[in-house]
Amino acid sequence: MNWYTESIKEIIDQFNTNIDTGLTESEAKLRLDKYGPNELEEKAAHSKWLILLDQFKETMVIILIIAAIISLLLGEYTDAVVIIFIVIMNALLGYSQEYKAEQAMEALKKLAVPIVRVRRDGRVKEISATTLVPGDIVLLEAGNYVPADCRLFESMNLKAQESALTGESEPIAKISEKLDGKDIALADRKNMVYMGTNIVHGRGQGIVVSTGMQTELGSIAGLLNQTESERTPLQKRLDQLGKGLALAALVLVGIIFVMGWIRGEDLKILFMTSISIAVAAIPEGLPAIVTITLALGARRMLQRNALIRRLPAVEALGSVTTICSDKTGTLTENRMTVTVLDVAENRIDLTEEELKVPVRDVKANYYSVVPDPKQVSIMQRNPALTLLLAGGSLCNDAILDCPEEHCDRLQIVGDPTEGALLLAAASMGLMKDKLEEIFPRVYELPFDSNRKRMTTVHKMPKQVEKIPESYETVWDWEGWIDDIDYVAFTKGAIDGLIEIIDRIWVDDHIEEIDESWITRIESANRDLAQSGMRVLGVACRSLDGIPKGEDEQEVERDLIFVGLVGMIDPARPEVKDAVRTCRTAGIRPIMITGDHPLTARYIAKELGIIPNDDEYENILTGQKLDKLDKEELRENVLKTSVYARVTPEDKLNIVGALQDQGEIAAMTGDGVNDAPALKKADIGVAMGITGTDVSKEASDMVLLDDNFATIVAAIEEGRVIYDNIRKFIQYTLSSNMGEIWIMLLAPILGMPLPLLPLQILWINLVTDGLPGLALSVEKGESDTMKRPPYPPEENIFARGLGSSIIWVGILMGGVALGVGYIYWLRGIPYWQTMIFTTITLSEMGYVLAIRSYRDSLFSIGIFSNRALIGAVLITTLLQLIVIYVPFLQGVFKTSALPWQDLVICFLASTVVFIAVEILKWVKRRKQPVLA
Ligand code: ADP
Ligand code: MG
Repeated sequence: MNWYTESIKEIIDQFNTNIDTGLTESEAKLRLDKYGPNELEEKAAHSKWLILLDQFKETMVIILIIAAIISLLLGEYTDAVVIIFIVIMNALLGYSQEYKAEQAMEALKKLAVPIVRVRRDGRVKEISATTLVPGDIVLLEAGNYVPADCRLFESMNLKAQESALTGESEPIAKISEKLDGKDIALADRKNMVYMGTNIVHGRGQGIVVSTGMQTELGSIAGLLNQTESERTPLQKRLDQLGKGLALAALVLVGIIFVMGWIRGEDLKILFMTSISIAVAAIPEGLPAIVTITLALGARRMLQRNALIRRLPAVEALGSVTTICSDKTGTLTENRMTVTVLDVAENRIDLTEEELKVPVRDVKANYYSVVPDPKQVSIMQRNPALTLLLAGGSLCNDAILDCPEEHCDRLQIVGDPTEGALLLAAASMGLMKDKLEEIFPRVYELPFDSNRKRMTTVHKMPKQVEKIPESYETVWDWEGWIDDIDYVAFTKGAIDGLIEIIDRIWVDDHIEEIDESWITRIESANRDLAQSGMRVLGVACRSLDGIPKGEDEQEVERDLIFVGLVGMIDPARPEVKDAVRTCRTAGIRPIMITGDHPLTARYIAKELGIIPNDDEYENILTGQKLDKLDKEELRENVLKTSVYARVTPEDKLNIVGALQDQGEIAAMTGDGVNDAPALKKADIGVAMGITGTDVSKEASDMVLLDDNFATIVAAIEEGRVIYDNIRKFIQYTLSSNMGEIWIMLLAPILGMPLPLLPLQILWINLVTDGLPGLALSVEKGESDTMKRPPYPPEENIFARGLGSSIIWVGILMGGVALGVGYIYWLRGIPYWQTMIFTTITLSEMGYVLAIRSYRDSLFSIGIFSNRALIGAVLITTLLQLIVIYVPFLQGVFKTSALPWQDLVICFLASTVVFIAVEILKWVKRRKQPVLA
């Protein structure tokens, strides 16, 4: 269908919709049933069956299946059946874990679905993009992801970035008029926007014409589905380690095979032994456990409000050394309240005057605004003040919404800064909706973080008698009303505004601006900023006509300065602690803001981001930053904790310089222009509440509560996850090492095969598995956030892991073999069962001891990891079943141990536990925890 060649009216008729009120909810529901959800069908990348099948593709399993077949051919039917049984059990365990991990990731993906603003039932509503249907009216603005294919009927300088569809990287300006001609190429359909592209500028509205697989993106979605899930650096390194160990195992097996052959052992047994040693040496669970631990870790992060978008982020978080955070909303609450109004000759402190500042009902998030007669009279005596408030409300995209029943209770929808302006005006009796009726908006230049201002143009009222009395002061200014057609209001940062004003509003007339006025404005700006306020200036000018195009320079010049507004935004209370945690954890918090340096300094000091006064010299502003060359910037980023008046490009440079200095940087961002910096950062962090879709898409992690403290919490989880993966590696490799020592040393002592092939398989594939998995939910060390971060390229075996694997392996193997040796020497027939049981139980003791690498099991609490206790009990029970159930005795060649001997196994198995606990005790004595 060529939606682009038809008129809006034709489209409306075709879709039976209404551009003012939208569809009704009931109609939308009907259409959703008819057209289906607005989503791209993903090829079930990982269906249950595929995951199960995957379990049988591992080399290890293939070796075992071949072993089973050979056993069958050799007539060893029991062996064959048991091998297959063990393989199946192992596969089921792997399957259940991987399925759990897969589901955890799916759930995270679902949470990442964008929210869309639509008109339905005559109201603007926010709905999930998946419930969009053809005929819906969507509101689009800079930063939005285009949720479906839409025909535009309104475009206010709307620009879309369509490179995902067309390859064109420059944003395309969009229009609302119908196009002429047939078969216009996708890239030239300027009155359409397409699913999968982004709005990067302006504002607009459109009618949804197709959803889901019917969209242009849907028609090429086949190409997109092929994206492989990326492997994390740790996964890659472990894959390599696994391959290395497999090779080593092969060599080892070769040696053992040849040695046995020379000694003239039975080839059948030798063959099975070789296979079992290979199984003992290859750490089969390694890559899978990393995936599972990371996925479940991502789920734990979600509970702490951090939504992970890319799995490698979970891992990288643990190594973060620097957090670059936005100030507004992340370090502060983003609950702006106007407290100071300042016009040429007058400053009104709304708190001092004991005037009524709008009261927020914290629970319901509503504001009650009852215009105060005292305030209204102050305002009416001062036209400049009225103009300040009216301008601040008109040049404003937020709205004060009244939820149906309570119209005295208002709710801010939109940017908190703008909402605060609306509330301040409302408390003086000026309501935005009324003002907009009188002065309809005809044009706008949206806010952007480079200009740090925005402008709207309004038509001046001609029929004065239609204006309600309380609004008269707004237009009743000397010399304005008669000969003016349009008025433009600009609001934004003072430092920029001051360059484009040439007159100032004083009381009820206009004066030329001079040096003393400039000084007066600048000092007012500084005054307010110094006490932590965000300061905005309002200016205006008259225009003869509606501007065309989007030439900022044309409109934003020769302005008349009206006044300043100071608003407070309290620091988030929990951030102070989070900053302190960062310090003990060796992480440097950095504030980056578009606000004034003095505002930034005030908040930074309050939060402890600037620890002492002399650091003030080190606040870098965007202007200073731009003058530094690359080398100077690199030097500066190491000592600067606060950046003010920065642009998104500055952010990109800062993160680049930090990385050049070897820092692992997390960087927050919310705007469209922040996307490059978010992509560049090691961890790009987007805002869940105030962030744009574009920033979310560029990010690795989304803060659901926009809170700095959440980043720190996620880092903590990241560190715990890394520790747990290391613990799993330590556990698996030490245990495998123990078994290998037994197999290698026994022949040297002159003993026959100490562990039978099926026993080794049993230990490795069944009893090792559960406790290992349970390690991945271990809570975390007491010093997790009291130690510096580990470098991400750190060797897996660093910090004593390698040596402990070796000595624990020797000890574990030595103890079990020692027990068996004594029994064997004394000719006791069940000496093999003694070895088999001692090694299994030793592993249980060991896993309990390495739950923490520094605290004793008793101080962290024996039962504080329930899963592990459960796993240890089940495994011990399984072991007892294997040695006491007659049928299994036949299969595993075990014997029932008399209780005294069983006690000996238990006692011997505590040796490793005790040794590790003693070592931890020494470690605690040597280096007590910091802080
Ligand atoms: P931050 O990085 O702290 O979020 P912003 O880039 O949002 O800072 O804002 C920087 C400056 O731009 C503010 O100090 C303010 O003067 C101005 N500003 C912020 N929001 C608006 C807005 N909605 N309209 C006009 N000016 C704004
Ligand atoms: Mg902001």
